Amino acid sequence: MTVPVLLAVDEDERLLGAIERELSDRYARGYRIVCVGSAARAMEELRALADAGEEVALVLAAQSFADTSGSDLLGRVRELHAHAQRGLLIEWGSWGDGQTAGAIYQAMARRHIEYYVIRPSQSPDELFHQSVSTFLLEWAHARRVSPHTVHIVSESWTGRSHELKEVLGRCAVPHSFELADSPIGRTLVAESGDGEPLPLVVFPNGTVLANPTNLELASAAGATIDPDKRAYDVVIVGGGPAGLSAAVYGASEGLQTLVVDNGGIGGQATSSSLIRNYLGFPRGVSGRRLAERAYEQAWVFGAKFAFMHDAVALRREGGRVYVALSDGGEVEARAVILATGATYRRLDVPELEQLVGAGVFYGGPASEAPTTVDEDVYVVGGANSAGQAALHLAEYARKVTLLLRGDSIEKGMSHYLVRQVEITPNIDVRLRTEVVGGGGDSEGWLEHLVLRSRDDGATEKVKAEELFLMIGAHPNTDWLPPELARGEGGFIRTGEELNGDGWPLERCPLALETSIPGVFAAGDVRHGSMNRVASAVGEGSIAIRLIHELFATEQLQARA
Ligand SMILES: Cc1cc2nc3c(=O)[nH]c(=O)nc-3n(C[C@H](O)[C@H](O)[C@H](O)COP(=O)(O)OP(=O)(O)OC[C@H]3O[C@@H](n4cnc5c(N)ncnc54)[C@H](O)[C@@H]3O)c2cc1C
Repeated sequence: MTVPVLLAVDEDERLLGAIERELSDRYARGYRIVCVGSAARAMEELRALADAGEEVALVLAAQSFADTSGSDLLGRVRELHAHAQRGLLIEWGSWGDGQTAGAIYQAMARRHIEYYVIRPSQSPDELFHQSVSTFLLEWAHARRVSPHTVHIVSESWTGRSHELKEVLGRCAVPHSFELADSPIGRTLVAESGDGEPLPLVVFPNGTVLANPTNLELASAAGATIDPDKRAYDVVIVGGGPAGLSAAVYGASEGLQTLVVDNGGIGGQATSSSLIRNYLGFPRGVSGRRLAERAYEQAWVFGAKFAFMHDAVALRREGGRVYVALSDGGEVEARAVILATGATYRRLDVPELEQLVGAGVFYGGPASEAPTTVDEDVYVVGGANSAGQAALHLAEYARKVTLLLRGDSIEKGMSHYLVRQVEITPNIDVRLRTEVVGGGGDSEGWLEHLVLRSRDDGATEKVKAEELFLMIGAHPNTDWLPPELARGEGGFIRTGEELNGDGWPLERCPLALETSIPGVFAAGDVRHGSMNRVASAVGEGSIAIRLIHELFATEQLQARA
């Protein structure tokens, strides 16, 4: 069996030698190290490796190879090795000169590199190795060879197997999907002792579950599914960025904190492949990774979690708030934070609804993108999430078409994303166009779409292997009682926005407090929210600060 290759290219022999030593010392057991002195030699190597079926995990190239012509070495790596990570080697401190900074901005904007790497300056150079291991972990995730990958084996992509994939995705568990009649699928079925009903879920520790329930699956994946007691200081409904942030601050500040979520962690953020605008993550962070870290952080502070439970009702009685759960249980708290976010609207094209999971996906392509190599894919939506999805897909797919109903891409998308979309050669933007039909191939995977022009109503059938839908969201507030005031579209009104509407107490509502005293709202579910990870995180922490204020006032009133 061949081992993956780490390829370094630098014209300076001495510098290349230092990189070769550093890579060989640390990685030679699991990877083959190839070092070459020119872009032409590097391309030859990459081609020969592709022809021989050998995989390249990482290409490190000196700054001189990152020209802006678009035909540079780093920009072409993915034509031959779709999952290879690409790093630009720079000198320590050189980011101060305009040329290096310019090369980095350009290469990142064009998605020719994942990030830059500072050349090793001593041996061992742990900073250098941290960069290399981060690249290798990303490569392993994209190749589905990361440790602890859970395999789902099924006869079809849709239906229950798609739901199982979603559950694992929501629990932030790396997973892969194998058709039962594929070579890997057959091996996994045989190893699990033939005869079990499909879909099968095979865990890295040898556990095999045959068509498990969501609760069984989440529990086997290590997610806690039951509250360990019934009374808390704070119950947070929703484990997205807002809920996780509230959990970190609540638990770290000594509040008995429970998070209830009807899936796993991360909310919408788990469908974001690369969040580049969240403070402290200069190379970007996948929504899933961010959620995993936040979950761990809340957990080590002592926050409790109950996954796979819908909150189905809420009432306030005797100064306490009660939240009823879908399993029939109820939890109570001195205060509740509603952080239930929002969910994507459906497209409402029946033939495409049948293909959800089989080429049609709601939300971002975080886990599907690496499988779209050489495909024609479509993204529907005009907001940042759609722009991000298109860019991520463009790294793998042959062609990405971004479809917008409106007449301008600038209206809903941040300027930096618009710029990146415009300069990415394999992204096409089609304005005033909507998806009105589609169909699958003989294996039940998406094969074509029917598009309609909003100008003249003309329809067109186009070949499409994947479709990602990001077409606006509605808040998850239907389960809340009528006395909880909501604004336009059902988003929750808070603080000054309530304008006294339905507010029952003499004191004014606190900033993120809803019309039910002691019940707060944070993140995308709140009317007027900013729909950003950072703002959701900020509001989660503010809600906890306000809850401290509320508890202090209640204590004073109790003493008076
Ligand atoms: C593809 C994509 C890309 C994005 N990229 C970026 C980006 O680059 N930068 C950025 O800043 N923002 C980005 N966003 C937006 C960002 O993800 C959201 O603003 C953020 O996730 C909102 O967090 P939240 O906690 O308020 O809600 P959500 O993330 O929606 O989480 C809400 C949680 O509550 C759960 N829930 C709902 N109802 C119930 C119920 N009744 N009972 C129990 N649980 C319930 C949901 O299942 C979910 O887990 C992106 C969004 C998407 C979809």
